[in-house]
Amino acid sequence: MQRRQVLRVLAACPVCAAAAKSAMAGTGHEWGYNGDVMPDNWSELSEDYHVCGAGRQQSPIDLADATRADVDAVTTRWRAVSDFELVNNGHTLQANMPKGSVSIVNDKPYDLLQFHFHHQSEHTVDGVRYPMEAHFVHKSNDGDLLVLGIFLDEGQENDVLAPLWAVAPTSKGIARVAAEFHPQDLLPRSSSHFTYAGSLTTPPCSEIVTWVVYEETAQASKKQIADFAEVFPHNYRPLQPLNRRQILQGF
Ligand SMILES: [Zn+2]
Repeated sequence: MQRRQVLRVLAACPVCAAAAKSAMAGTGHEWGYNGDVMPDNWSELSEDYHVCGAGRQQSPIDLADATRADVDAVTTRWRAVSDFELVNNGHTLQANMPKGSVSIVNDKPYDLLQFHFHHQSEHTVDGVRYPMEAHFVHKSNDGDLLVLGIFLDEGQENDVLAPLWAVAPTSKGIARVAAEFHPQDLLPRSSSHFTYAGSLTTPPCSEIVTWVVYEETAQASKKQIADFAEVFPHNYRPLQPLNRRQILQGF
């Protein structure tokens, strides 16, 4: 991640700089993962974050004791993109996707809005936490969210992520990725997944998310994980109680 390179990108693009400024102004109360604004305190930071503490369907959770079920696999119709925003918003690194990519679950279409990363993983599988987790955030016409989660385990360098890592801003700001990019290439081959009803894992923690977390992991090199961790040492929310929910496992 080369800060100088990013600054050059910003300097060359006044629109990006303006967008970065407004993104950095943010909406809502400041929150984080450490100190006074840590996850345990989110519900007290703002009335808007009440459900972070009072909710009964919060995410992330430990994916254990799942019930095998005949649930639909997700159909992803994602298109190749070129020229998109890569934002360091102070909480994560987020790639904003142009319109045109859709995922379908139970005949309901959801538009792919963005994907971003957590270090370490937010969900765990039978108590196992992975080095990273990518979240592909989708929204339906009626405002429901679908998030596809993909674990990143340490292994081979991830060629799909490499062009993003090369330009990712190391402090709050926006870079643009100009190379052709196929988000589909980040998906695991196996459609085996866990699904459950949950929430955003960041304030306001709204309980409007259908979660689909893939069992097969993607890989990233030790250096790729370390590069991300240098900018975001800890950006995952602690596990939340399952309460009366059921985790289904589909194949
Ligand atoms: Zn996330």
